[in-house]
Amino acid sequence: MPIKDEFVPAARFLKNFEGKILLASHENPDGDTVGSALALYLALKKLGKSVKVGCRDPVPYFLQFLPASREFLKLPVEEEFDLCVVVDASSHKRLGVPVRAKSFMRIDHHKGGDFYREEDLVDAFAPATAAVVYYLIKNIDEDLIDREVATCLYTGLATDTGFFTNSNTDAEALKLAHLLVERYGVDPHEVAVNVKERNPLRRFKLLSRALDTLELHLGGKVSSMFVLKEWLDELGASYEDTEGFVNYARSLDGVEVAVFITERPEEGVWKVSLRSKGKADVSVVCERFGGGGHKYAAGCKIPLNLSLKEVKEKLLEEIRKVV
Ligand code: AMP
Ligand code: MN
Ligand code: MN
Repeated sequence: MPIKDEFVPAARFLKNFEGKILLASHENPDGDTVGSALALYLALKKLGKSVKVGCRDPVPYFLQFLPASREFLKLPVEEEFDLCVVVDASSHKRLGVPVRAKSFMRIDHHKGGDFYREEDLVDAFAPATAAVVYYLIKNIDEDLIDREVATCLYTGLATDTGFFTNSNTDAEALKLAHLLVERYGVDPHEVAVNVKERNPLRRFKLLSRALDTLELHLGGKVSSMFVLKEWLDELGASYEDTEGFVNYARSLDGVEVAVFITERPEEGVWKVSLRSKGKADVSVVCERFGGGGHKYAAGCKIPLNLSLKEVKEKLLEEIRKVV
């Protein structure tokens, strides 16, 4: 694969950076933000950099197989960093906590958002931030990529593409997956088993309740599903157990847009996840509510002082315009 010119300034900047670096993953972390941050963390550590990784929330159980996943710091921390690299998020606000840093940098694949410096790497056409990080590390020094780094990158790529099935799965994504497997020895089966086949029973008890809430709207083009906090408490489950629930709602025949709502009293919000089968742009809907994301997957938060019924109505009003 070619050395891409746009990666040179960022690669040079990180290679020459002398201060303390924090690689920060977004709140409610997914495979892409964790995999991308860990890949860069391992690479920069090999270079002898002073680097840490952090996130507001713990690494979900299905990503704990990744090398160095236990080294994630729980944010916020007292420590002040010289540089905070925001990984797989459109803004430091998506970290969900304040970070003390002299400067910021962004490595991401969301469109729009905040820009911090010339060396920011934001490619809205990349299938995952992991693909951006791959090119970045390659431009720093290709020899930094070993099986561990490649496994983190592959996990980011695989999870954000729904294991190479979502509408962001393109030739570039498959080519990179091929390279990570062929050249660096990533085991796709091992990643899939770890990510998808280590579900705790409580997750399915929760899924069963969530599926009971499944409804169709707008003539069957839209589906919705929700989870209440008290169900989590009753089942000893947490938010990470709801990962991927929205895909069941999306998989219904005829559905173009799926809505998944989780009650989050500690943040005072309804957390909304939207997924599109590919035609409707759900990022537009979420932007109306102060959130964002991609055409096919987006999220936002709506204040808890609205009832669930009101939230659904408001969302459907906006979704109607894009389906
Ligand atoms: P989720 O539904 O939380 O899995 O998020 C789907 C996509 O939307 C991801 O690319 C997120 O980065 C993005 N996203 C989720 N929540 C927000 C938010 N509150 N603000 C901006 N983007 C978001
Ligand atoms: Mn993400
Ligand atoms: Mn991503």
